[in-house]
Amino acid sequence: MELIPVKDTAKAPAARFTGDVYLTMIKTPEPPSRLVASLVRFTPGARTNWHSHANGQTLHVTEGVGYVANREGQVIRMRAGDTVWTPPGEEHWHGGTDSTVMCHIAMLEATEDSDGTTWLEPVTDEQYATAHTG
Ligand code: MN
Repeated sequence: MELIPVKDTAKAPAARFTGDVYLTMIKTPEPPSRLVASLVRFTPGARTNWHSHANGQTLHVTEGVGYVANREGQVIRMRAGDTVWTPPGEEHWHGGTDSTVMCHIAMLEATEDSDGTTWLEPVTDEQYATAHTG
């Protein structure tokens, strides 16, 4: 077995996120394992761009309150202790609410050559606001 010491925390890239988001890697794949896990901290108003994961994604909320939403208009309000599964290929975004932080552990299974995430356009302010009205 192996201790993996705590990794540095990085500001998430503006090309893929809106607002202030901080990423701390937990695990990168070591074949035959394909597990990718990271701790993601969203400040109020911050969220991912629209994106999808080739092998799906499991989100486990460790602190705060936030949202996951998909193209079909489904919005899940999630809070500490909750887990949300997004299936392979489903376009979605996740983030905090406009007034609360949200921290989650994101877990996914990589493909042969990448983490399997396809990044798309930013979530507009209108789309983000709509999630709060459901
Ligand atoms: Mn995702």
